[in-house]
Amino acid sequence: MQRFDSIGIMGGTFDPVHYGHLIAAEFARHEFKLDSVIFMPAARPPHKEINEVLDSEHRYNMVKIAIRGNPALTISDLEMKRAGKSYTIDTVRYFLKHYSDSDIFFIMGADSLLTMHTWKDYQELSGLCRFVVATRPGYIIERSDPALKNLPSILWERMDFLPIPGLDISSTNIRQRVAENRPIKYLLPLEVEQYILDKGLYREKEGVKDVK
Ligand code: ATP
Ligand code: MG
Repeated sequence: MQRFDSIGIMGGTFDPVHYGHLIAAEFARHEFKLDSVIFMPAARPPHKEINEVLDSEHRYNMVKIAIRGNPALTISDLEMKRAGKSYTIDTVRYFLKHYSDSDIFFIMGADSLLTMHTWKDYQELSGLCRFVVATRPGYIIERSDPALKNLPSILWERMDFLPIPGLDISSTNIRQRVAENRPIKYLLPLEVEQYILDKGLYREKEGVKDVK
């Protein structure tokens, strides 16, 4: 068994992966002295309808391509393979079982704070890992913010904040841009852009069949 003192888990849909994800993972790795950051594409994100999300194989392939060249970043197909919905608590439990001496850091962007109080077993989860919350343009990380009034103290107490260069990039926007034939270059690694073009991904506008 491989031994790690500390592992970061970067959960997400990665539909597609972009520089916001990569910067959050790499900066978290450095700031929190993580041995490895594991990208964990969700098969069925609890907050998204499965038929709205691209086939997990493509999402997995794109992350794999994006992390090439950085040996500290890896990918796991654990959530993709697991039947049913993807819950963070199940993933963290799995890593604690297999890497029992490791500290687990779950990495996310500030927008995730808006829904974190709905996560399965968040109280138990807060005892199993720490949360690294990366800044994201348009999302405030402040306890007094009315938008975060539902976020329980137990979660705030387990959070560390990670200032990263503000990248107003989202997968939603990238998908829209591809559908509208607008450039996505420099929003994500060149090789991922190439994969999207080669496979003809995202060409159909979401929810609209016939786009002129
Ligand atoms: P979508 O628009 O489809 O929701 P997304 O860009 O938000 O895509 P996700 O796969 O939903 O990407 O996000 C995975 C994780 O990465 C989440 O914790 C999210 O908060 C974080 N994240 C995504 N984009 C950024 C960004 N630009 N800056 C900081 N964190 C980000
Ligand atoms: Mg998102």
